[in-house]
Amino acid sequence: MSNHRIVIVGGGAGGLELATLLGDRLGRKHKADVLLIDANLTHLWKPRLHEVAAGALNADVDELSYAGHAKRHWFRFALGRMSGLDRARREIVLAPHIDGNETILPERRIGYDTLVIAIGSNTNDFGTPGARDNCIFLDRRSAAEHFHRTFLNEYLKAGTHNPPAEKHCNIAIIGAGATGVELAAELNHSAHELTEYGFDQIRPENVTITILEASDRVLPVLSPKASEAIRQQLEKLNIRVLTGEMVTQITEDGLHTKSGKFVPASLKVWSAGIKAPEFLKDIDGLETNRINQLVVKRNMQTTRDDNIFAFGDCAQCPRQDASTPVPPRAQSAHQQALLLAKSLQNRLAGKPLLDFVYRDKGSLISLSKSGSVGNIMGNLSKDFTFEGKVARFMYITLYRMHQFTLHGFFRTLLLIMRDRLARRAGPKLKLH
Ligand SMILES: Cc1cc2nc3c(=O)[nH]c(=O)nc-3n(C[C@H](O)[C@H](O)[C@H](O)COP(=O)(O)OP(=O)(O)OC[C@H]3O[C@@H](n4cnc5c(N)ncnc54)[C@H](O)[C@@H]3O)c2cc1C
Repeated sequence: MSNHRIVIVGGGAGGLELATLLGDRLGRKHKADVLLIDANLTHLWKPRLHEVAAGALNADVDELSYAGHAKRHWFRFALGRMSGLDRARREIVLAPHIDGNETILPERRIGYDTLVIAIGSNTNDFGTPGARDNCIFLDRRSAAEHFHRTFLNEYLKAGTHNPPAEKHCNIAIIGAGATGVELAAELNHSAHELTEYGFDQIRPENVTITILEASDRVLPVLSPKASEAIRQQLEKLNIRVLTGEMVTQITEDGLHTKSGKFVPASLKVWSAGIKAPEFLKDIDGLETNRINQLVVKRNMQTTRDDNIFAFGDCAQCPRQDASTPVPPRAQSAHQQALLLAKSLQNRLAGKPLLDFVYRDKGSLISLSKSGSVGNIMGNLSKDFTFEGKVARFMYITLYRMHQFTLHGFFRTLLLIMRDRLARRAGPKLKLH
């Protein structure tokens, strides 16, 4: 191995793609030592978390082992959660890895020549009273799995009292962005499917799902036309949508809004905003913004240290043609990973870094089996609204593109076939 050490922290939608590309291009030819560090042993593509929460996806089947993937792609993997940075010594600090009461790995320091931080984001509850204690934040696999277990438990608990007609499950979702809307649709679908597998203690029509949104329409990032199409579809699914309702307090029993409404709910999911992990705030003198994102230049280099790059949700990257930064989305992380791979190759060869140009491909929202809606950005800033099977196909394409970057054409094809076979062979939902 060459001595140049590229350390990538965070193997998510962006970081894992970057490690794979750099491993294939530099690690394989011994031009650099590429090391990926992640706080978990396996990767799960974050935009699928709502499917895990609703039981539509079994994370154990879809997860990817970092160690196995690293071996195939000429990079190394280390388990660890970054907790600090020592720029003077070019080292990152990894917190001790603790399992139960046992310290599996002590605090460690890892040296780098080039550091890339791609550790994503967490949910931002904007300090809303009661949110942290009473809501599930759908920002990691463990939270999605916890939600799924809690959802199934509602059925199991209901089985012990009252006849089915009297049993209700109230779910409130705060935030009508992609996560909230997609989760609501998946849960609605699960509520109908579960009865087929003996979870009939609560009738589907007694599962009340309410989405609360502070702005005046669902999915404000979409065009008004697409946004309206989604609202109508949600209503068809009997999902209550309350727009213009700011949640001010959350208790064990439900949510209070600014206008004075109370929405009762036993299950509450907060999906209304993001922020980068707390420890990044001003980390060793690097510039950060009010939501802890590392401020980077268009080439994704941090503004105060040329050896440190950041991208994806944890970075504020300027957009070429707009006053707003690159949005925190999987498509941004994917595009940035592709460019940064080329750029870091250039850097090693003594060539200039490349500036990131964000291409908004539009947004597609999956409404579970009821279809998908969204808009695709066309030329001349015109956008085209798609619905139904075409939109569903394009929605799935974003995930397949991620798999394609990680595995190449033939393995992605095999994975598509595996998914189809699994769907035919097993139950449609995860039931445990
Ligand atoms: C339910 C849901 C649905 C979504 N749907 C869409 C969608 O349809 N389209 C879209 O474009 N975007 C969607 N998004 C947003 C998208 O998931 C994110 O924008 C994208 O995953 C960001 O990629 P990333 O690489 O920056 O971070 P992530 O994919 O979040 O990866 C971060 C990685 O860093 C690791 N990590 C975190 N902290 C540390 C640490 N301290 N040390 C080491 N490792 C660490 C994590 O384990 C993780 O592997 C959705 C998000 C959610 C939650």
